[in-house]
Amino acid sequence: MKSISTVSKMLLLSACLVFATPDAQAQRKKKKKKGQTEAAAAPKKDKKKKIADLVKASEKIEGLFTIYRDTTNGSIQLLVKEDQLDKEFIYFNQIENGVLDAFSFRGAYGGSRIFKVKKFYDKIEFEYQNYGYHFDENSALAKAKKANISEAPLASFKIEAHDKERGLYLIKAGDLFVKETLSQVKPPRFPGSRPTDFTLGNLDKGKTKIKNIRNYPENTDVAVSYVYSKPSVLNGGSNAVTDGRNVRVDVYHSFIAVPENDYEPRFDDPRVGYFMTQTNDMTSVSATNYRDMIHRWNLVKKDPNAAVSEPVEPITWWIENTTPEEFRETIKEGVERWNIAFEKAGFKNAMVVKVQPDDADWDAGDIRYNVLRWTSSPQPPFGGYGPSFVNPKTGQIMGADIMLEFVYHTNRVRVEKLFDDITAQGKNMHLDWRNKKNQTYCSYGQMMQYNTQFGRAALALNNADALAMEGLKKEAMLELIMHEVGHTLGLNHNMKASQLFSPAQLSDPDFIKGKALVGSVMDYTAINVTNDPAKQGHYYSTTVGPYDVWAIQYGYQPFKNDSEMNTLLEQSTKPELIFGNDADDMRAPGKAIDPRVNTGDLSNDQITYSIDRIKLVNRMFGKLKDRYTQKGKTYNDLRIAHAILMGQYAQAGNVMSRFIGGVYVDRAMAGQAGETRPYTPVSYEDQKRAMKAINTHIFGKNAFNTPNELYNYLARQRRGYNFFGGPEDPKIHATVLRFQRNVLRHLMHPNTLQRVSDSELYGNKYDLAEYMTELNNGIFAADIYGSVNSFRQNLQLEYTNMLVEVLTGKSSGRYTNATKSMALYNLKKIGQMASNNSGNVSTKAHKSHLKTLVNNTLKEVK
Ligand SMILES: [Zn+2]
Repeated sequence: MKSISTVSKMLLLSACLVFATPDAQAQRKKKKKKGQTEAAAAPKKDKKKKIADLVKASEKIEGLFTIYRDTTNGSIQLLVKEDQLDKEFIYFNQIENGVLDAFSFRGAYGGSRIFKVKKFYDKIEFEYQNYGYHFDENSALAKAKKANISEAPLASFKIEAHDKERGLYLIKAGDLFVKETLSQVKPPRFPGSRPTDFTLGNLDKGKTKIKNIRNYPENTDVAVSYVYSKPSVLNGGSNAVTDGRNVRVDVYHSFIAVPENDYEPRFDDPRVGYFMTQTNDMTSVSATNYRDMIHRWNLVKKDPNAAVSEPVEPITWWIENTTPEEFRETIKEGVERWNIAFEKAGFKNAMVVKVQPDDADWDAGDIRYNVLRWTSSPQPPFGGYGPSFVNPKTGQIMGADIMLEFVYHTNRVRVEKLFDDITAQGKNMHLDWRNKKNQTYCSYGQMMQYNTQFGRAALALNNADALAMEGLKKEAMLELIMHEVGHTLGLNHNMKASQLFSPAQLSDPDFIKGKALVGSVMDYTAINVTNDPAKQGHYYSTTVGPYDVWAIQYGYQPFKNDSEMNTLLEQSTKPELIFGNDADDMRAPGKAIDPRVNTGDLSNDQITYSIDRIKLVNRMFGKLKDRYTQKGKTYNDLRIAHAILMGQYAQAGNVMSRFIGGVYVDRAMAGQAGETRPYTPVSYEDQKRAMKAINTHIFGKNAFNTPNELYNYLARQRRGYNFFGGPEDPKIHATVLRFQRNVLRHLMHPNTLQRVSDSELYGNKYDLAEYMTELNNGIFAADIYGSVNSFRQNLQLEYTNMLVEVLTGKSSGRYTNATKSMALYNLKKIGQMASNNSGNVSTKAHKSHLKTLVNNTLKEVK
């Protein structure tokens, strides 16, 4: 919260000077008085208590809400001033420290809320306000604006003492903090969780304590250590939980003054991707009565008349003193790259970077500082996390942090997790329960680790020198920092941005030198490793992209009028400015519709780029063993390198599969220059091309072609009893099938198949019959009349089972009749094809299995 940092420090200093002396005098006077009148004081017991009497054993901590802390037992009392009644304040919380087992981790932000302090007879109440709805005050309806909206009364405290003269109320407010009054700390029991899952015990009030209070004129911060206890546990949690019977979660609570400034909310536009606070205009008749305020900093020009001016207050970032030294310079560069975008929006030096001194008297949990933080957690919850907190009434960003995990910059990769991530099954949905409205968890760091490992493997196999390795590492860090900083400026992901250049341009080092490789660094892109090492240029973007510049202009430029803003927005149809966020991306099977909006892809010809990547991986497989075998070491690194290559291969398959039944989305406004149509099906040629490539490289006889002799070496290093978890041998067939199944899950998804049929009505020429026939042929035609290898047997059975599922399975009701008819047609064909008796014994067994499956299903189909 930069707007208060410097000022508040000075105020605090002067506050100390002003108040320390009179207070000390008062204490001395009181003592004297007490000594003199002890006997006489007794009859006055029933007289109303005075604040001074109730706080005399307490330390006074002056600030927005002055707190008295008892010097003997640590309990607290809160002073509420008359002019604070019925006034709005912002409440915000963040986790200082936790364990992932409890879905709490350092730096996790809760949402910010508005609360009011109210007086009701002899009580002081705290109440959360609801700002989700807007009423035009000129409308009579505004008189009913409180109707059917529940505000949240949190707590009510008896007034312990009242100083009428100075307008002060004293309350014993400890429960506001030591109970979970302000926010829920213990996660709910999620549907689907098992009785054996790790859970926290009950809040243990005896062990829970207020650790620390920091008070400033514009914010009061209270750090609370919550302890959850239970007498016995079945699941004691991970190694990060020292003893599951007593678990601690530390939370910072902040009360913040609503900023008094002339900040004007800027309203969201569907063509640009900002985080936002959604409100509805309840007095509007519009179908889209949205008044969604984008999240942005309050940047004001020092010189309003200058085309480019420094801001009155820049956005200042601190590199936490926990940051590895070797990263600091690159991190600074990454933050400052955004100044390129801000200059276009009219601001010079909008972003400023400083390093937190080792002896700093503040820590990163202090909301007045925006900090780039580093942790090396036992179970890293994300690759990077760039949360911000806002004034919920306006969307003004008041503070932000960036959390970075060290593990993603190491060679440590958990192979199973990598496979989960590639098949989009690794996401922990429960992590964001605390702040559902503003999901800012970001797994780009994770993906980037896999990508960078792949880049390192490619370099290593080409005997690249240490300098080249360093260059790769630096580019990766630069892009990751730009990405995470982008989140804290209000930007959400733009998964469509990787369409900027063609594969040929990306493998032209002179062409891409110094350029962003993508329209926006807010994408999750593939690493740009060229198949021909001589053509290798940048691996990642080393500067912000054209979309980033444009989006910052939209969010931050002080527009003279609406038409100036509209002129900027109307550029959205330029190819370099296209946008689609996580909701539009196709990373999970069956999700979304536009194949350009994807993760792990690159170039405006993703099919060609994907085929190239597969070819590159196939070449690298052959050289892997020699390069990754180190005398005197185990084969652990070789095992990881192989998994990384497999992951790249599988990802390329996922990307291509999304073209089948794909529909391009254009969010241009009607009549906007360059507008196409909202929905345009992918061309016949591109769908065919994708299908052919999948049939060859993902389903083909020689797909995932690791040389067999490599399998003898894919060994994990033994550590203690770690193979108790399961046998250690490489699960070759299961891994390949897992990747194939993931592509099939999209190709056979009810949403995909329904869209193929529907889009035939508005331009799709690759119709359901042709598509499903080609898929069927791709999986069987090449070998069903001869011997079928073990991988293909696996695939054929898996696919046949999927057809059976369409007809008679649990989810059969989700498929259209047209799909069911084609499934039945193909199933019968499989039965016919499998009726030949050729091939080796295992093939015969396989064909017999297929036939049985088909025949049994045919009996069931009604
Ligand atoms: Zn992100």
